[in-house]
Amino acid sequence: MKDNCIFCKIANGQIPSHTLYEDERFRVIFDLGPATKGHALILPKEHFDNIYELDDETASNAFLIAKKMASAMKKAFEADGFNIIQNNGEPAGQTVFHFHMHLIPRYEGDKAIGFWKPGNITDEELQVLEEKVKKEL
Ligand code: 5GP
Ligand code: ZN
Repeated sequence: MKDNCIFCKIANGQIPSHTLYEDERFRVIFDLGPATKGHALILPKEHFDNIYELDDETASNAFLIAKKMASAMKKAFEADGFNIIQNNGEPAGQTVFHFHMHLIPRYEGDKAIGFWKPGNITDEELQVLEEKVKKEL
């Protein structure tokens, strides 16, 4: 646990929360500023600032929980769609620096989340980007 981290305290039960799911390593809670009805967060009990710090086992388990929760929440809330969102760093919209995944049920016409405007890219530009990433893998 990290000092003064609100999600460490919630995930580890020091601050009570409505818990949709819990196991040894994770807790799933409702977001207090929900984008839509049922918006929830997957929190690991161990502190990681972001995805870059995550170990492989936590990363795998987080997505398995996302899969389980998406199905359950879609049924429970009669959602028409579902977004799984995960922000890293302030420019990407991260405001709480304890890794978490957003589970956001979507409802026809809710207009809850604004997505990107599609841009343009050439094949040459894609080639440069592809090579840069492959060097880092
Ligand atoms: P981020 O922007 O970092 O991806 O998401 C942080 C989310 O945490 C926001 O959607 C915000 O509403 C939610 N949040 C912030 N503080 C609390 C809290 O104390 N309890 C709960 N349940 N959610 C919180
Ligand atoms: Zn934390």
